[in-house]
Amino acid sequence: MTSHSHIDRPLYITVFLNGFISLLELFFGLISNSLALISDAAHNLTDFLAVFLALISRIAGRKPPTLKHTYGFRRLEIFAAFFNGLLLFAIMAILLKESIFRLFNPVKPPSQTIVIVVGIAAFFVNFISVIVLNPHKKEDVNIKIAFIHLLQDAFVSVVVIISAFLYNFSFGKYVDPIATILISILVLKSAILILYETVLTLLEGVPPNIDIMEIINFVGQNYPQISIHHIHIWQNGPNEILLTAHIHFKENCRTDEIEMVFADLKEKFEKQWKINHITFEPEFNGCGESETISKGISKGTKF
Ligand SMILES: [Zn+2]
Ligand SMILES: [Zn+2]
Repeated sequence: MTSHSHIDRPLYITVFLNGFISLLELFFGLISNSLALISDAAHNLTDFLAVFLALISRIAGRKPPTLKHTYGFRRLEIFAAFFNGLLLFAIMAILLKESIFRLFNPVKPPSQTIVIVVGIAAFFVNFISVIVLNPHKKEDVNIKIAFIHLLQDAFVSVVVIISAFLYNFSFGKYVDPIATILISILVLKSAILILYETVLTLLEGVPPNIDIMEIINFVGQNYPQISIHHIHIWQNGPNEILLTAHIHFKENCRTDEIEMVFADLKEKFEKQWKINHITFEPEFNGCGESETISKGISKGTKF
């Protein structure tokens, strides 16, 4: 098992910075009546939550598997991300509705000075977070996602700052709602993506980068002595993809030969599809099934 604890420090820093800036933005957003600031605050707040939950579930995920939880606690991370995606979606939907309402019932533009100053502060927080995470982004897929995300956040802050400079034009009272609509659409998009990916994992879907037919063709082309059926592929969390399958040997062979084929298959599957938790069931006479995907489980009869 590789230790990732040295990554925790930069994560803590970004958690603290994001938490601090979102409270600041929320406070001044409410004072100045700027929906754009409030939406950036809400979004930074869920970022804060996301990293915070990721930290907690990382710590929990490091707990070794037990007799009661044989996979350990990797799913906590997925569950936390799902919860956060829901929250993000709800907040952004409310802000989108509110900003569309304001488009038709415009109010006086917010205080320019407040929005610019707080916007610049938010920009720098995201910018610093990006710099802090940059050296670690190749080590962990979550860090990489956070990195790309914070880069997008810095862009959102730029939208807020630019919008404030447009308040004095004749269309000034529409600028804040329009900026909010832009921001909430952008953030809603990432919320939907988070929800889609976490639900896929919770429903034990095949990870998006894997095509079962490709695996079957690979086995068919490279291992003429066997065939594969009754396949299950799912993931517990980031970096843990599981596979179980029946392997039918066309001619009877010794146990050590079976072991060699299995070891070879596992190595190739891990290399090509990052499947790293594999269980095979060897067959010679066959189990009476040959379908790629067993229909048995839904009937609750075959395992
Ligand atoms: Zn964000
Ligand atoms: Zn079988």
